[in-house]
Amino acid sequence: MIIIIGAGISGLTAARQLQGRKEFILLEKENYIGGLSTQYQANGYRFDFGGHYFHFQDKADIQTLVQKVCAFKKFNRKSKTFALDRLIPFPIQFHLSYLPTTVRNKIVKEIMENQFTPAANLHDFLEINFGKTLFELFFKPFLTKYYNIDLHEIIANMDRGSIPPPDKERIAAGAAGKKFFSSGYNPVFYYPASSLTHFIETYAKSIAPGRIHLNEEVTGVDILKKRVKTVNNEYSYDKLITSMPLKNLVKIIEPKNLFPYPQEFHHISTLLVNVILKRKRKRFHWVYLADRDIPFYRAGFYPVHPFPTCYLEKTVNPGTVIDHEKLREEIVFTLKALKLIEVGEEVAFFDARIIPVSYVLFTTNWPQVVPSSLEKLKEYGIYSIGRYGSWNYTSMSDDIKDAITCVRAFGDQEPFREKVPGPPKAFVH
Ligand SMILES: Cc1cc2nc3c(=O)[nH]c(=O)nc-3n(C[C@H](O)[C@H](O)[C@H](O)COP(=O)(O)OP(=O)(O)OC[C@H]3O[C@@H](n4cnc5c(N)ncnc54)[C@H](O)[C@@H]3O)c2cc1C
Repeated sequence: MIIIIGAGISGLTAARQLQGRKEFILLEKENYIGGLSTQYQANGYRFDFGGHYFHFQDKADIQTLVQKVCAFKKFNRKSKTFALDRLIPFPIQFHLSYLPTTVRNKIVKEIMENQFTPAANLHDFLEINFGKTLFELFFKPFLTKYYNIDLHEIIANMDRGSIPPPDKERIAAGAAGKKFFSSGYNPVFYYPASSLTHFIETYAKSIAPGRIHLNEEVTGVDILKKRVKTVNNEYSYDKLITSMPLKNLVKIIEPKNLFPYPQEFHHISTLLVNVILKRKRKRFHWVYLADRDIPFYRAGFYPVHPFPTCYLEKTVNPGTVIDHEKLREEIVFTLKALKLIEVGEEVAFFDARIIPVSYVLFTTNWPQVVPSSLEKLKEYGIYSIGRYGSWNYTSMSDDIKDAITCVRAFGDQEPFREKVPGPPKAFVH
């Protein structure tokens, strides 16, 4: 028996791969499937958990797979940085012509004078290679707000999603007015033509409904007896595929002390605010907010939504209690600064919720703690996958690919026949 923990895109992909081939059950703590790759309802509106766009990059196989599930729309990314009271196309270092002349010249001079220097931490890497002026204007305020940690404690070359060394040719051309709108790892993105919920529910249709157990939070894993405990039940497994956050998994593993302490796994929590505006004001897909006065690190518009909806993201401490009055003031302040509203009354409705583990932090201990923990888990027949299971910076496409690779590695022995699945359960949101 294979047990899968978590019905997000990773767990559902693993289940699709196992369906009809092996005995498995999927345990999900919530009363709905999809994890972060779905939508929730508030006040009759349907919201995503922040921008959830598909980037396929070099994964044509994953693109083909998901586009068989439902129709997708393609978008040319319009992302910006907000600094010095202006919107500058992403990435800022290639669009210095948008800055005042004196600032621009200073930044270009500092970058051009530098020889590329590898650095042990993100602070030094950015300050040395991009120069003090751009570091103070954008990288430091933005990343400090986002990571909520001293940048000396972050490694420079994160596994995925790292900031590349400066490309001096493009920086010079951008300072002279050339545009590089399609640079970076995600110049285009895709989103279901219908909704993320429709995508995920269609994606899960090939999984026999009886195999998905909702409201089954895993509270203990005995890795010697190969047993999983939930609030209601106990199950034996031969192999365990888990997509719950690695930090939370090591907390509930028995026997204790086989793995690093949970506090060695660093991450941020995100306060996500979805806002319905009274009128349409779409100027970008998303914007990085460098300004120290603005509490949010990112704002964005959903590409497909029946109402004028934007979202704001802010890093908070886990367990933060939301002060709705203060939050409304912060929302109005931010949207006014971005010139998306003129008066507070233009905010028709907002919903705020905290994503407890949203972004893993690549702190200097990550290389010692994470890969060895994942390897050790495998020795016990536990495969910790997905963005939070592998404690990495991955996209939904990476997670699909990794889940498929994980299951394929089990081989196709012990073929298992099951009735063709009936219609899916009504999944609650
Ligand atoms: C703000 C934000 C924006 C993002 N934007 C993008 C984007 O634009 N594009 C992109 O590709 N990716 C994006 N991502 C990343 C994307 O959300 C993840 O890559 C993806 O959702 C990971 O899927 P998963 O199934 O591995 O994890 P999850 O979606 O977290 O699913 C894990 C599941 O496990 C369940 N679970 C947890 N603990 C237990 C337990 N103890 N017992 C049982 N079940 C449990 C959870 O309820 C959940 O359903 C974004 C992430 C965030 C936070």
